[in-house]
Amino acid sequence: MTSGEAKGGDVFAGTLAELTWYEVDHAARSGAVLLWAFGVIEQHGPHLPTGTDVYVPSARLRAVQALLAERGVQALIMPPYYWGVNVVSGSFPASYSVRPELMREVMVDLLAGMARDGFRHVFCFSGHGDALHNRTIHDGVRAARDRTPADTSFVTEPALARRIGLDLDDPSLTLYGPDEPPPPGPADVHAGRWETSLMMHSHPELVREEVRARLEPSGLGASDLAIWRQGFDAARRVTPDGYFGDPAAAGAGEGHRLHALAAEQAADAIALRLRRPPRLRPPAQTAHPSRTEE
Ligand SMILES: [Zn+2]
Repeated sequence: MTSGEAKGGDVFAGTLAELTWYEVDHAARSGAVLLWAFGVIEQHGPHLPTGTDVYVPSARLRAVQALLAERGVQALIMPPYYWGVNVVSGSFPASYSVRPELMREVMVDLLAGMARDGFRHVFCFSGHGDALHNRTIHDGVRAARDRTPADTSFVTEPALARRIGLDLDDPSLTLYGPDEPPPPGPADVHAGRWETSLMMHSHPELVREEVRARLEPSGLGASDLAIWRQGFDAARRVTPDGYFGDPAAAGAGEGHRLHALAAEQAADAIALRLRRPPRLRPPAQTAHPSRTEE
């Protein structure tokens, strides 16, 4: 298994898809945890590929895996899930969506298989900021906690958890990073400075550099963001080119820093959860299952 960067955009690189069943079985019996990213195929402006929300978390999970190994935790990476939910980009080409209930049930079926293999901890990450996509990940995680014995959790930042209306004490969350409001100034939320920087770091060969360098900043603020988040045609009117932020200001060095920081924070949060097992809910048998301490 490798923790290196994928060449040519291979999202199977370093994942369980490269292992044999013997190796996976042995890892499960040895107490390995699973890391799993939930992305989407979605437009990312004229300069980034539609798989950006799969490539970025895939690179992050390879870094998290290496950092966990340094902390004595063995982790396997599931191949990324990439048929997610698109509301914001729903009116653009190359932005595909499934019904949330369908995604939730696919998650539960696959998480049941992982629990059956003997994996006790599954850490689910999001690669995509769409509110409904993230509520769906949370729904899938909660349903899997009800229906399987594994401690499955959604690894996310406090700001995202708040934005989608979750309680920060929710036992299905593994929170990482500081709990702080977004910085003041023009918003940079989609295919802008930070996301483009991450792609310039992890997959520079997939960035349309000659296009990126000439893009004007979208210069949009909080009121535009509220309209954009309504999605579909409203979002396409606000950002006709598909990016919300300042891609020309991006850089590979900044991407490297953001990538390393997020991976470090996530690995710390996972290691902390593994040291202090949270309350687990047994598989539901009654309408009102009671919680038990593990
Ligand atoms: Zn994205």
